[in-house]
Amino acid sequence: MATTTTPINALTAAAFATPEKFTAFCANGGQPLGGIIGGKRISGSMNATFQTTDPGSQEVLATVSEMGEAEVSHAVDAATQAFHGNGSQGWRDVAVEERIALVNRLVELCERDQEVLLACEIRDGGKVSELAEGDLTQIRACAEYFCDVARKIPMGDGPATQISDEMTGATYREPWGVVAGIIPWNYPVVLTSWFIFPALLAGNTVLIKPAEDTPLSALYIGQLAEEAGFPPGVINVLPGRGEITGQCIAEHPGVRYISFTGSPGVGQSILRTCDRHGTRMKREMGGNGSAIVLADADPPVVGRLVGRHTNQHYGQTCCTIHRVFVDAKIADDFIDVQRDFFTGLKIGYQADEGTQLGAVVNSTQRRRILQAQQEAAARGGQPILAGGPAEVSGRDGFYLKPALFRTTPGVECNPAEVFHTFATVCPVDSAEEALALANSSPYGLGASVWTQDVERGIALAKQFRDGTCQVNCHNSIAYGLPYGGQGISGGPGGGVNCEDTFLDYTQVKAVYVSAYPG
Ligand code: NAD
Repeated sequence: MATTTTPINALTAAAFATPEKFTAFCANGGQPLGGIIGGKRISGSMNATFQTTDPGSQEVLATVSEMGEAEVSHAVDAATQAFHGNGSQGWRDVAVEERIALVNRLVELCERDQEVLLACEIRDGGKVSELAEGDLTQIRACAEYFCDVARKIPMGDGPATQISDEMTGATYREPWGVVAGIIPWNYPVVLTSWFIFPALLAGNTVLIKPAEDTPLSALYIGQLAEEAGFPPGVINVLPGRGEITGQCIAEHPGVRYISFTGSPGVGQSILRTCDRHGTRMKREMGGNGSAIVLADADPPVVGRLVGRHTNQHYGQTCCTIHRVFVDAKIADDFIDVQRDFFTGLKIGYQADEGTQLGAVVNSTQRRRILQAQQEAAARGGQPILAGGPAEVSGRDGFYLKPALFRTTPGVECNPAEVFHTFATVCPVDSAEEALALANSSPYGLGASVWTQDVERGIALAKQFRDGTCQVNCHNSIAYGLPYGGQGISGGPGGGVNCEDTFLDYTQVKAVYVSAYPG
C-alpha cells in the first residue's frame, strides 16, 4: 500500500451552537416531555420522570416522563387499533404508495428540522458534528432504500401451487401487527430509522423504546410523524428505563415482534421473556471487532486508519476495532503509529471545534471502561497508553484517555466489548495465527484485513466468523448488504438494511384450499 498523501484524521467536531428550537422542545413549557401514544402526549400514570443530560457537561437537557405498564398497555391498544383500523382503513391495508408518501413527508420534516436532530445527537448523544451530520443522512438513505424494497416485495397472496386434483396451496405474506423497536443510546437517529422504515413500510404499527440516555431524537421524530400525517397509533414513542418500560414491552403479549439493538446480555434476557408468550425477536448486538494487519501493510497509513476506526464515536460503535493482530515484522512501527495517533486525539467537549474524543455517555460506562483498562493490565497486557480519567477545562463530563495495550497470543486481556477508544495489539507470526485468534472471540460483528494483496485479503476476510468482513476498510455499512452479527453479536433474522430485513417484519402463512366435499 503506497503511503497516502491525504491526511487520515479522527472524526472531528465543528463548533455547534444549540438552536433555540431544540431548547424550546426540551423545555416543553415547563412540563416533562411525555411519551407519544395514539397521537397524544402522555405523561404517565406513575408520575415518574427522569432527566436526560449532556454527557460532556452533565447539563440537564430535559425532563422526560417514564412510561410504565399502563402506558405500554395503552400504546399496544392504540397500535393494535391503528393496525386493524377502527371504522376506517387500518395501517395494514393502506396502499404501499400511501405509506411511502407519508414516509417521504417524515423524511422532509426531519431535513427541515435537521438542526434540532443534530442537537439531539450532539448534545444528548455526545457526538462530534462530523459523525452526527453523517448519521442524519441515514434518515433519507434508509427511507429511500426501504421504499424501493416495499414496492418490490409482494405482500399478500403468493403464486398458487396445485397440490392434488382437489387441492391448491399458496403462501400469504402479512405484517406482524404491533412491532417494538428497542434502541440503544449510541446511534439513536440511525437506529430509529433502521427500525421504523422497514417496519412501517411492511404495514406494521410501531412502538419505539429509545434508550434512557438518549430519548430526545425519538420523541422529536414522533412529533414530526404527527405533523407528517401518520394516523394516530401508527407510531408511538415510549421513553423509560430498560428494566421498567423495556421489560413491560417484552412482557406484553400484544407485541408480536421485537427488534432489539443493544448488548448481548440484555438481548438474551429479553429473548427469554419473549419466548414465554411467543413474541418473535430479532437481535443486533455488541461486538469486539478485530483487524488483521499483514506484513505488506504500510504502518503510517494503516496504523492511522485502524486508529480512526477504533475511535469512531470514541469507540462507542458496535463494530469498532478493539483487537488488532499485526504481523510481527511491522508490529513495532505499527504500535508507534497507533500510539501517536491516539495521543494526538484532541480530547474535549463534543460541541467545541476540533474535538475528536469527547465524553462517554454516562458515569456507569466511565466506571466500566476504567475497570476494563485496569483489568487489561492485570491480565498481562503491556500498557502502551494506560488510559485513565481525562480533564476538560470548564466541563464536568465523563472524559477518559485512550488506552492501547501490547499483548501476545494466549494473553486474554481484552475478552469483552469495551465501549471506548481502547485496543489491544497482538504481534503474530502468520495470517493464519491472526485469524484463529480473531475468531476465538464469542462476538462476531465486524472484522477487517489490511493488505496490499487484495485477493489474499478477500480470502482471509471470508474466513472471519463475523457478520461483516472487510478488506482495507472497516465500519462500512451499505443498504442492500446485510448488517448483522454471528455468535453472541446477533440473533435470528437477516440483519439490517437488506431485503431480508423487510421480510423479518412480515410473516408468511401457508393457505391450503380444497373444493367443498360432495
Ligand atoms: P443495552 O443493552 O444496555 O440497552 C439497549 C436498550 O435495551 C435500551 O433501550 C435499554 O433501555 C433497553 N433495555 C435494557 N434492559 C432491558 C430489559 N430488561 N428489557 C427490555 N429492554 C431493556 O445497550 P446500550 O448500552 O444502550 O447500547 C450499547 C450496546 O448496543 C453495545 O453492546 C453495542 O455494541 C450495541 N449495539 C449494537 C448495534 C448493532 O447493530 N449490532 C448497534 C448499536 C449498538
